[in-house]
Amino acid sequence: MTITKWVYTFGEVAQLEAELDGSWEAVRSLLGGKGANLANMTRMGVPVPPGFAITTAACNAYLQANQQLPEGLWEQATAALETVETATGKRFGDPQKPLLVSSRSGAKFSMPGMMDTVLNIGLNDEVAQGMAQREDNAHFIYDCYRRLVQMFGSVVLGAPDEVFEDALHNYKLNHARATDADLTTEDWQQVTRMFQNLVKQYTQAPFPQDARAQLRQSIEAIFKSWHGRRARDYRRAAGIADDLGTAVNIVTMVFGNLDANSGTGVAFTRSPSSGEPRLFGDYLLRAQGEDVVAGIRNPKPIEQLETEMPDAYGELADVCKKLEGHYREMQDVEFTIEQGKLWMLQTRDGKRTARAAVRIAVDMANDALITREQALQRVTAEQVNTLLHPQFEPKAMEEARSQGRLYATGVNASPGAAVGQVYFDADTVERVVKESGLAVILARPFTKPDDVHGMLAAKGILTSAGGATSHAAVVARQFGVPCVAGAASIRINLEQRSMRAEDVVVNEGDWISIDGASGDVFLGRIATRAAVLDEQSELLILLEWADEVCAAAGMRAGPDGWPSRGLQVWANADYPADAQRARQFGATGIGLCRTEHMFFQENRLPVVQRMILAQQPDERQAALDELLPMQRKDFEGIFEAMQGCPVIVRLLDPPLHEFLPDEYEVWKQVISKRVTSLARYLLGQETPDDIAELERLLARVQELHENNPMLGLRAVRLSIMLPQIVEMQVRAIIEAAANVELTGTRVQPEIMIPLVGHLNELNTIQPRLKRIARTVMDEKRVELEYKFGTMIEIPRAAITGAEIAEAAEFFSFGTNDLTQMTYGFSRDDAERNFLLKYVEDGILPSNPFQTIDRDGVGQLMRMCVEGGRRTRPDLEVGICGEHGGDADSIDFCHLIGLDYVSCSPFRIPVARLAAAHATLRHRPDN
Ligand code: ADP
Ligand code: MG
Ligand code: MG
Repeated sequence: MTITKWVYTFGEVAQLEAELDGSWEAVRSLLGGKGANLANMTRMGVPVPPGFAITTAACNAYLQANQQLPEGLWEQATAALETVETATGKRFGDPQKPLLVSSRSGAKFSMPGMMDTVLNIGLNDEVAQGMAQREDNAHFIYDCYRRLVQMFGSVVLGAPDEVFEDALHNYKLNHARATDADLTTEDWQQVTRMFQNLVKQYTQAPFPQDARAQLRQSIEAIFKSWHGRRARDYRRAAGIADDLGTAVNIVTMVFGNLDANSGTGVAFTRSPSSGEPRLFGDYLLRAQGEDVVAGIRNPKPIEQLETEMPDAYGELADVCKKLEGHYREMQDVEFTIEQGKLWMLQTRDGKRTARAAVRIAVDMANDALITREQALQRVTAEQVNTLLHPQFEPKAMEEARSQGRLYATGVNASPGAAVGQVYFDADTVERVVKESGLAVILARPFTKPDDVHGMLAAKGILTSAGGATSHAAVVARQFGVPCVAGAASIRINLEQRSMRAEDVVVNEGDWISIDGASGDVFLGRIATRAAVLDEQSELLILLEWADEVCAAAGMRAGPDGWPSRGLQVWANADYPADAQRARQFGATGIGLCRTEHMFFQENRLPVVQRMILAQQPDERQAALDELLPMQRKDFEGIFEAMQGCPVIVRLLDPPLHEFLPDEYEVWKQVISKRVTSLARYLLGQETPDDIAELERLLARVQELHENNPMLGLRAVRLSIMLPQIVEMQVRAIIEAAANVELTGTRVQPEIMIPLVGHLNELNTIQPRLKRIARTVMDEKRVELEYKFGTMIEIPRAAITGAEIAEAAEFFSFGTNDLTQMTYGFSRDDAERNFLLKYVEDGILPSNPFQTIDRDGVGQLMRMCVEGGRRTRPDLEVGICGEHGGDADSIDFCHLIGLDYVSCSPFRIPVARLAAAHATLRHRPDN
């Protein structure tokens, strides 16, 4: 029987990869992310301390066998240890030349809840004494030893970590030692002894003196931590399988705390905040392990290493370049310098802000490290959304500066401007936001995993300790929350619930403004403004690549075999200014221009009301004649802004009562007027004459009253009953189009008739409107390319798409109404009363008003597209509901062969990227 190989030294990775048919993915599954990368760096000739990995399969076997080490594991580990001893010339447990190691967990995906790393394994009383005698660095030995006892005691044996921290704190107080650096060799010896006593007290067993027992217990503890509560919870939340198991890495110790020529640090190969291609990170001399990120001492920026230790810095820069070349990704590395010599302890793909993600993807594609398509796939639609986050109004910020409101400056850890009331703990932040919906900023000395709920609820995060790689910074970047970290001049007093800097006290609930891009913290509120796309040159480039991908796909048949022009992104824009913005953001058409918004403009509403209240047709026509030039002017502006791109104008959609005052208000006025005139009459005075008009208004409002106006007389139905309004609109559209065309700018007007349910509705109104278009063109002596089409928002229209397409030259899905009518939900009522609970309890997988319900609404859409194109193969089909800006819905729109998605101007960049993602994802050769 062959015994499974459970243990691989880092040097054996090539052999393992070959055994696994060259699959690096399989190597990572077996050795975990950390172990696989350590082994890989070893193979690349990057300096990694010798070590070995115990496989994830061993972890699973151990857990399945009721916590028994699987057969052969311990022997293989011992043999691997011997290989390491040979390589280092040191021996494990030997007082003369001892090998010390760290034990590190590492699953395939890095995840919280796994066992923390234990450093300096292999030290015991005898080894410590031996080393201390032989070398002149006893101070260093006992610094290591006390760390081992503390880490092993808490992490492996389960004693509470605070008892060690408290004991050390009290020791320093009693011996008048201000910082750890003031502790002498004797101090560390005593602290070590004190820690050993604590271990015994809390675990009923002495600290193990046998090096091999230490090693074995660490390994088993890591295996067990796979089933720990936090690890399980995280896996469930992140959708990671429970049977992956974790690997264990045993790595020769290298010592950043050895002397003044030693140190430890973390670095990113590019800035995780801006994406700038230069090393970015922190380091500390005379430090070990997590000292850099723990916020105990303030670390130094990595640039300083270049002057402090130029050789080590140069080597680090080389290694980083090599790693990027290999992984073709920005890397996040851990390193230690021991007596001037560089050692790499970890590398992995680095987390980054949205801005950095875009810049890195574009830079790497330009440097041919990756393809443009890969660059597109490395940026998520949500990241692009974050980039459109608000920033401070530059003027307002200058003003705040000149008023002396700049309060403190920290590390610019995660960009974006945030304004909010400050609170000092995560629970309170979450509660305040939930209860009041206020904008809140969480301020803490530093953050821990327990604080994440508050960090996510906050508009911004501020810490007084820690740097660009601190927990707060990493989490904030990941979730796109603005963050200023390590604003060291701020002292936060958690008991008094206030903070102080330069003698200025800020109390809980006071307003502050933080700028995560500059690291500045201001007192009070500063006005913000929307992000400007033009200033984000890398994003503009990436979005152009996205458009190219979609356009190239358009050369081929669409996913369902339909002729496809490639998925385009259009905008919903009601005014010329919106249309301009839409063009700037890259829209290639307008999918929805809602004409009624033009009616609501202040100077027009009285005319609109006069039109509605008119009793005689000529009275109504007079009002419409007044509206005509106003609408025409709007349309001219929009056509000019769109420079020949298609513009879909929707004819009047809402019921008329929306343009009239509220019935109850009018009624109140009528009553009060009646009372006054009665009083005047009794007093023998004249009665005011405007009461008749008011009564007429009331009567008309009451006449227009409907029980269910959204399902009543509106849109195409209203046009059939009262064609004059849409006739005026069509005239305005075609006149405007003709005027603009005559100036030499091409126009493509598309006139959309809303809320059609039956072909005959179109057949009734459309010919009439076409005649008007013909008349106007004859009057103006131009021939325009224009279309009549309909909005698909009633299930019956979707089902009878083949028939509707006999009259309609284009379809546009109004998915908001289509969802309301398919589900029988009134959106406002649903979202207010039950929909959130539906989603929370999993009754619905997501809010169908945000993401298209593919199985229901989506099937209607698919059926409609198929039907429509059977009748009219070149039928243009798009979507103009809010869904047009949602990445998942865009994916579906592409799948059913739509020509464009139309969304609000601000979502256009998001939609352009999502359209490219959909195109790449469903490419026929995929
Ligand atoms: P995490 O996954 O939490 O980062 P690590 O295993 O990477 O845990 O280790 C924690 C810290 O200890 C890191 O700073 C790492 O660089 C350091 N460390 C781990 N192993 C060694 C070693 N053999 N020598 C020196 N430092 C080490
Ligand atoms: Mg690490
Ligand atoms: Mg509608």
